[in-house]
Amino acid sequence: MTLLAPRRITRAVNVGGVRIGGGAPIVVQSMTTSDTRDAKATLRQIAELADAGCEIVRVAVPDRVAAAALPDIVPHSPVPLIADIHFEHTLALKALDAGIHGLRLNPGNIRKPEDVREVVHKAKERQVPIRIGVNFGSVPPMGAEFVDEMASQNVTQIELIAEHMVRTAIGHIKILEDLDFNDIKISLKAFEVPVMLEAYTRMAKRNIYPLHLGVTEAGTPRAGSVRSAVGLGTLLALGIGDTIRVSLTTDPVEEVFVGYEILKSLELRQKGATMVACPTCGRVEVDLFSLANKVDEYLQTVKEPIKVAVMGCVVNGPGEARDADIGLAAGKGKGIIFRKGEIIKRVDEADMFEELKLEIDALVRERENEPVAV
Ligand code: SF4
Repeated sequence: MTLLAPRRITRAVNVGGVRIGGGAPIVVQSMTTSDTRDAKATLRQIAELADAGCEIVRVAVPDRVAAAALPDIVPHSPVPLIADIHFEHTLALKALDAGIHGLRLNPGNIRKPEDVREVVHKAKERQVPIRIGVNFGSVPPMGAEFVDEMASQNVTQIELIAEHMVRTAIGHIKILEDLDFNDIKISLKAFEVPVMLEAYTRMAKRNIYPLHLGVTEAGTPRAGSVRSAVGLGTLLALGIGDTIRVSLTTDPVEEVFVGYEILKSLELRQKGATMVACPTCGRVEVDLFSLANKVDEYLQTVKEPIKVAVMGCVVNGPGEARDADIGLAAGKGKGIIFRKGEIIKRVDEADMFEELKLEIDALVRERENEPVAV
């Protein structure tokens, strides 16, 4: 028996050929930080993200100049793109005309109902899904009736805020449903992890639309990765979430790595190599930090899902090293390399990295040549 809940059953949507929900693997997304008006720079960043394994990229479309650049971006992107649009319906129409694969747009923020209709009809015609995204920082004020209703239920402040976010999103969803549009994804992001946990778990019980998970403005790489891992990891362990975006104040390629690490930790996706390294202690007799960092950097280039362990001593090291596909247990100036639990080499400290690299390369070559199961 596992503590991980089965994945929530959701309606699938298709973003330019990438399936989200309906039992599909959890999709990793990110967002460009380049100026969308600069098509070249944006395409360069999209290519870097795609190279890192990002499966869908979102681009901000803040104005007409940015929308006018989309025809130079969308057809050349190696992965499906989502246009992030607020308020201005003409930008959404331009994005759809440019062949965009998804929209992030809250229909309730577009003033005229006929403008909403025009966008939704065009999105439907082109089979382009719409993500409703309600962030804690931008929800409208709560109505007195709602506050009274919630007060009568004795809810906590967290529950109150989360329910307000959920109902705001449901308001936007209703506009789409009334126009017979169901290709919907939902996000309910907040910086405060308890709020986003509460909001997503509440929404998960109200409909079967796929959920896009995120902790918004999570922060710098160290704090933001931990915050995202706690928020996203908790929901994923509960079976909630169909696509994720880790938002960090750094190069978005890092968001992709962190996203996959979260999914790999819960064994929800396998991608690239997994590295096991001991934290070292008084027993270590080699420069394990440098070795582990070098191996980690090298493994970033490996696409096969292999497990490599770099351990600091012969007391506790061999266990983990044996368990990995390739493992090293270091001793005084020397180390033992394991492959699938078998000792295959004894190496000097100076040769550890090169020897590990040779073994990793050989294993990757073998895996690449293995017949694909059908
Ligand atoms: S593997 Fe050895 S060196 Fe590393 S932390 Fe454990 S006991 Fe210490």
